[in-house]
Amino acid sequence: MANETGSMDAANTDPAVVIAGGGPTGMMLAAELKLAGVDAVIVERRANQDLDGSRAGGLHPRSIEVLDQRGVAERVINAGQPGAVFGFGQSMFPVGDLPTRHSYVLALWQSEFEQLMAAWVAELGVTTLRNREVAGFTEHEGNVEVHLSDGATLRAQYLVGCDGGRSVVRKAAGIDFPGLPATTSWLIAEVEMDGDPPMGFTHTSEGSHAIGRRGPDEPIRLVIQQPYVPGAPEPGMDELRAGLRHVYDSEFGLRRAGWISRFTDATRQAATYRRGRILLAGDAAHIHPPQGGQGMGTGIQDAVNLGWKLAQVVEGTSPDALLDTYHDERHPVGARVLQNTRASVAIGIQDEQHQALREIMGDLLSLDDARRKIASMLFALDVHYDLGQGHPLLGRRMPDLDLEVDGRPTRVFELLHDARAVLLCLDARAERFDGNPWMDRVNTITAAAGSRCEVPLIGMVDLPPAVLIRPDGHVAWTGDLSDPELPDALTRWFGAADR
Ligand SMILES: Cc1cc2nc3c(=O)[nH]c(=O)nc-3n(C[C@H](O)[C@H](O)[C@H](O)COP(=O)(O)OP(=O)(O)OC[C@H]3O[C@@H](n4cnc5c(N)ncnc54)[C@H](O)[C@@H]3O)c2cc1C
Repeated sequence: MANETGSMDAANTDPAVVIAGGGPTGMMLAAELKLAGVDAVIVERRANQDLDGSRAGGLHPRSIEVLDQRGVAERVINAGQPGAVFGFGQSMFPVGDLPTRHSYVLALWQSEFEQLMAAWVAELGVTTLRNREVAGFTEHEGNVEVHLSDGATLRAQYLVGCDGGRSVVRKAAGIDFPGLPATTSWLIAEVEMDGDPPMGFTHTSEGSHAIGRRGPDEPIRLVIQQPYVPGAPEPGMDELRAGLRHVYDSEFGLRRAGWISRFTDATRQAATYRRGRILLAGDAAHIHPPQGGQGMGTGIQDAVNLGWKLAQVVEGTSPDALLDTYHDERHPVGARVLQNTRASVAIGIQDEQHQALREIMGDLLSLDDARRKIASMLFALDVHYDLGQGHPLLGRRMPDLDLEVDGRPTRVFELLHDARAVLLCLDARAERFDGNPWMDRVNTITAAAGSRCEVPLIGMVDLPPAVLIRPDGHVAWTGDLSDPELPDALTRWFGAADR
């Protein structure tokens, strides 16, 4: 891939937003901004989208839903393998009955997912400046001057650090990254072996180890848990061989490794996701071990929460205080992910007390309510932003209802493809809300639907007569079109009527 994709002449044009890092979070954010008509540039260290080593193994339901909201879910679904079982604390349970069209985990390596995302953002016309890094920034006359490693400077209104766990942007902004330090680590590798290693989990007093492959033609991947050693060097073949002998008493004819890497159970979260014109998203804002497979999805969903808000602020539609709601809404979501990964690591400790805990957890997860509660949490289907009291849908994700609009069958998520807000009137007899001053920002649609919908962990609820859906798919208001709170909600989320 070329050094630069997209049409921007880096030296001459200053974008509204610079995104440091073109991983899953940065690409999702760039797509959201582009769909909203905002000029954003990704600065990416890697020369192309290839990934060195294993990262996320797939996508969970809410991440597939947000891609569905943009009309690109099919691409990833076609490339992955759906699975109907998931695990927490070493207990496995079925996940096929959650109230979503995507009630499965999609096995798809991050390396393949990133290629699909890169193709999508390129189609949208996003510019990616490759082979260079964001080295730092200075703030100057209400702008951010972003300093690149090649000596160039980009002047932007906002800089978003999507530059991973070691984020230069977070450090340069002086944003604290408190949390728990590492206590254990895992050696992870993709290997070729002449022998016949035991597939599946092996538990020893030092932890849990695994060897597996996704299919007969797929490479073998292995994970070996080890004590955490501060400052340990990058792992190599010698350490891998020693690790195999230590756990399995054999190297199984280890011939070569495609890559070898290490991760730990450190959990940290940025103290704030926003400092003035600097924002953080994805791993730059939160790190945790991969238990529960939530890292990539949390970053993608951060980006979907932030994108439309940042676009509106850049365009002057909304005051920049709207960006504070990004921290207010997403920080608690990230904190909960850290919490459940800490619990997962703790439950995995290999001694008799934790074995007792695992057995009790396994018993609990055989109950439908407990299983759905844990699955909805891991899959982010239960995320509830605090938008006040009201209908159960308020602050939650809008379910992807079947609708009929002007006699044509459609779905809620199809109405969100252009990343604009939707005022959805579900009462065909209601007075229309046409000609409202927010028409340039909010699509007003009258649709026929059933009378009820299922909300994760709450159950079946009556549909309200109308619902205001933000571009991220969360419900900002419900009620009757004559409700005097509707103009307030429109103003709060989409700017003043007379802007
Ligand atoms: C071993 C391992 C296993 C994992 N397993 C899972 C899993 O099963 N499920 C899951 O959901 N998640 C998993 N994760 C986590 C997942 O990989 C991350 O959460 C995800 O990659 C975060 O995406 P991101 O875009 O926020 O950050 P990253 O993917 O880290 O992307 C950051 C990007 O920024 C670039 N960059 C960095 N610094 C700069 C700079 N200064 N200037 C310009 N560019 C820069 C990098 O090259 C990179 O492209 C795993 C991670 C690891 C390490």
